[in-house]
Amino acid sequence: MDPGFSFASNLGTLHLVIYFDHNATSPILDSALAEYTSVAREFFGNPSSQHRIGSRADRKLEEARSALASLLGDTSGEIIFTASATESANMFFHHFSRLHSDDARIWISAIEHPCVLEAAKLWFPNRFSLIPLLPSGVVDLEWMNSKIGTEKPKLIAVMNANNETGTIQPIDAILSLAKQTDTPCFIDAVQTIGRTSLPELNAHSVYLSGSAHKFGGPRGAAFLRTPEGSFTPLLVGGPQEARKRAGTENLPAIAAMVTALTEQNQQITSGQASLHEQAKAHFEERIESTLGARVLNKESDRLWNTVSAIMPETGCPGRWVVKLDKKGFAVSTGSACSSGKEAASHVLTAMGVSENEASRVIRISSSWNTKNEEWDALYDALAEVKNELES
Ligand code: PLP
Repeated sequence: MDPGFSFASNLGTLHLVIYFDHNATSPILDSALAEYTSVAREFFGNPSSQHRIGSRADRKLEEARSALASLLGDTSGEIIFTASATESANMFFHHFSRLHSDDARIWISAIEHPCVLEAAKLWFPNRFSLIPLLPSGVVDLEWMNSKIGTEKPKLIAVMNANNETGTIQPIDAILSLAKQTDTPCFIDAVQTIGRTSLPELNAHSVYLSGSAHKFGGPRGAAFLRTPEGSFTPLLVGGPQEARKRAGTENLPAIAAMVTALTEQNQQITSGQASLHEQAKAHFEERIESTLGARVLNKESDRLWNTVSAIMPETGCPGRWVVKLDKKGFAVSTGSACSSGKEAASHVLTAMGVSENEASRVIRISSSWNTKNEEWDALYDALAEVKNELES
């Protein structure tokens, strides 16, 4: 099956849907599904069991761990497998809070995913500063440079690319600032893994999170990369993951995550991103010039797969996504995790987008399998929706 097209719904009728919501979740790749099934059958043992069936599963688990590390370009850290990037962020902030005294302060960007923002608030209540954002959607490096000497934060947390806008943050500059001041960093790389190259992990004290279902792996497999050393677990009650995360490892999903990332990394090295970039740029140019949309953060470095656009004013601002859905196109209003919420997303607010504009924002996110004809079909559907909303 081509993940860009044609999904059978089990709602009674068969719908053909062109799926443009890969930042929310991406369908599992055939290769990953095959690996999942094969590992579930062949390596069903519990990796903690003492018998040979268990040892075999344990070896497979450790193979997956080293394969993932090398796919991330990481030769000096440790990988802790988790069930979601939300869990990774929660366990990170829990661990990090235990390393520091009760008055330690941290920095997090204003546009982090809620799993990072909320975990930071929980474990560092009233002890965090939000790194401000420029209107371009990028964190304010000048602010960071000017304040780091006096504020001396114990941590800098900035995501690699934003899930709503696709804007890529200046992680190399942040890591270099953090290195000069010996400040550890937490990088949520959920939206960049399998889509673009990752920052250099080895040089500095970097924690990094990722999640398989965003890059063609299954749900329930994710990880936290940590520097070598001790780690205070959030989940306790078992010896798994070197006592850093209790609970029987989801080996089939972990192995399938590695298979998915292997395939996606091949796409990165094959240079396909520039072709996708062109298709997206053409689409953006058309929706701006003929539909009156405004693409957000257009001048910034962005993921090749994400478009976030303010659609033109019509009588029914919130109807774009529903009408597109009825025409067979799945797009999002913002982060999937915050959909259903009436208020403007915190990301758009931090970028200075007004409430009214935010109600008209649609997020479109493609995959390596998305075809030019699908972008064209989406454009046509948007033009129809615009006519309908205006009539
Ligand atoms: N971080 C970012 C940037 C995301 O987009 C998401 C999911 O939308 C998450 C974290 C949470 O990932 P998970 O679904 O694995 O908990």
